[in-house]
Amino acid sequence: MPCARVHAPTPRNLVRLARVLVRGGLVAVPSETVYGLAADALNAAACKKIFRAKGRPAHDPLIVHVRSLASAAEVAVLSPAAKKLAAAFWPGPLTLVLPKRACVPQVVTAGLPSVAVRMPAHPVFRALLRRCGRPLAAPSANPFGYVSPTTATHVLAGLGARIAHILDGGPCKIGVESTILDLRDPARPALLRPGAVTRVQLEKTLGVRVRAPAKKAARLPSSSVLPPVSRSPACADAQLAPGLLARHYAPRTPLTLHRKFSVARAVTAPREAWLFFRRPTLKKSAARPKNIFWLTARGDAAEAGRNLFACLRALDAGGWHRLHAERAPARAALAPALNDRLARAAAKGG
Ligand code: AMP
Ligand code: MG
Repeated sequence: MPCARVHAPTPRNLVRLARVLVRGGLVAVPSETVYGLAADALNAAACKKIFRAKGRPAHDPLIVHVRSLASAAEVAVLSPAAKKLAAAFWPGPLTLVLPKRACVPQVVTAGLPSVAVRMPAHPVFRALLRRCGRPLAAPSANPFGYVSPTTATHVLAGLGARIAHILDGGPCKIGVESTILDLRDPARPALLRPGAVTRVQLEKTLGVRVRAPAKKAARLPSSSVLPPVSRSPACADAQLAPGLLARHYAPRTPLTLHRKFSVARAVTAPREAWLFFRRPTLKKSAARPKNIFWLTARGDAAEAGRNLFACLRALDAGGWHRLHAERAPARAALAPALNDRLARAAAKGG
């Protein structure tokens, strides 16, 4: 039974919810990427509650959200490259993995000597950060492994029985999680998770090549991602990016990913749902088959991003025997992020 309260982002509610956070409680918060489940990043006991509420394994570190560059510098060591990227993309959907400062509890970083930091752009999240006066650790506000939430209603459906407070900031404007860049060695930046900030944009800003994410998704926390020197035996299982798990962001209904498919094919399998990237052309005279859906009417990838997780959730609740989804066309800037999430949603096992 849901017991969480959904709060409008009024100044009074922001004050109340900031108090909940400062006292070590949890609040689900809106961001421009997806909704997050926030706790005081410098309070280990509070952060442990995040793992419990989500059913998130302790080896999967959290992103720390900050309101300012000064606050980022309190939790992480900012190299000139990090400052350059912050100037170009913060506030915004870019997370930097950097050497951590001692004040960040081990539970937040899963024992790693690095911390993931981001300055969010959502005005409600920023207002809450200002009111709290401390950094907030926040992974996506969903049960671990399930489709990320992009509305307060999604959070209520997934975590309503496990948390007390949800701050409603409207539907997320981007709808896919932040780009994660490993910048522990500024000379060798590596993309860990594609997002709305693209690899090309990062390379232009840094003036060096950015290594692409590993082609093959890991089934287990990947030891190939972390250089051995940065791992202590205690954190041998720590994950560098959650999106590195082969199966993540996944609906319960089995999902198959295709390069392309046709309406003719979809109508041969009426008990399966077919999610086109772009609205397909239908014969004027024909009724729209009931098992056909799309992410964007005119092929706008940003619109597809906003709709992706809500579509997967709606289809998952639709009683379909199987879901089919089409890959986003490679030319779209958001395509690597969309196709990464779709591939992981379609992957079998974990
Ligand atoms: P999520 O909260 O699901 O959006 O995922 C955030 C991701 O950021 C984590 O799952 C990690 O993969 C990555 N991350 C967080 N902290 C660290 C860290 N200290 N070192 C490397 N990657 C991290
Ligand atoms: Mg997540």
